[in-house]
Amino acid sequence: MSVGIDLGGTKLAACLLRSDGSVLAETTVPTQAWEGPEAVMARMEALIREMMERAPERVAAVGIGSPGPLDLKTGVVLSPPNLPGWDRVPLRDRMRAAVGLPVYLDNDANAAALAEFRSGAGAGADRMVYVTVSTGIGAGIVIDGRLYRGETGASGEFGHTSVNAWGEPCRCGNVGCLENYASGTAIAKRAEAVFGRTMPAAEVMSRASEGDQAAKGIVEEAFYALGIGLVNLTKLLNPRRIVIGGGVAQTGGPMLDTLRRIVNRHCDLEVEIRPAALGTRAGVIGAALLPWTASEGM
Ligand SMILES: [Zn+2]
Repeated sequence: MSVGIDLGGTKLAACLLRSDGSVLAETTVPTQAWEGPEAVMARMEALIREMMERAPERVAAVGIGSPGPLDLKTGVVLSPPNLPGWDRVPLRDRMRAAVGLPVYLDNDANAAALAEFRSGAGAGADRMVYVTVSTGIGAGIVIDGRLYRGETGASGEFGHTSVNAWGEPCRCGNVGCLENYASGTAIAKRAEAVFGRTMPAAEVMSRASEGDQAAKGIVEEAFYALGIGLVNLTKLLNPRRIVIGGGVAQTGGPMLDTLRRIVNRHCDLEVEIRPAALGTRAGVIGAALLPWTASEGM
């Protein structure tokens, strides 16, 4: 059995996974990220211990999915924008010392990609890309049945690939990044300019689905940019399937048709675009899968 932890800016999720991939127990608590890394790590340790107590047999290892950027070689969390106060935190070694088990760390998009590939919408597609569209935009890339992590573990920064060479500068140093056009943050920002008040992306999405023309325009623009990003990705990697997850994608079901139209209009290479099957649980299930795939050299 393994324990998975999904470290998010707002929620900490934990699960207990059998070696056949089925979930035996799971729980979620608020991260309370504003309290800083020490308090959050104490909460993570408590969750791991709770899962270990509920395990009917020995827990072999712990997997943690964390927001990037990370240094995967050293197991260090660098400085994720949604985890205030985290700066080069040696999360893997700290948790290993705290609970006395091997700990595997990976970024949250890779963990979710792994779960969707193993037991979700990516099953059976040895070349797939999982794209998450929520506050930000990220991706986990599976090539020939294995996660592709890149040289330093920084692969899959799909939100910071450009869709406009003459676009606004991004905080990452690039210009015209996809994230600035198609993320939940971008949708909310555009909505504030149009409606003259703050409006979360979820509200824009639901207004659009109810037929509000202004909201529809904002969402269509965002999905057009996402579609162009997916065309780039398809031309580069020639995947069989693209799985779309994250909050924005979940509320925008009909919008997947927009993406299919854009991607398969521009590409001669037919690609399947499917909604994620595991929803918000993909991150935590994938985290618990990390130790198993590490032993398979994945
Ligand atoms: Zn960027």
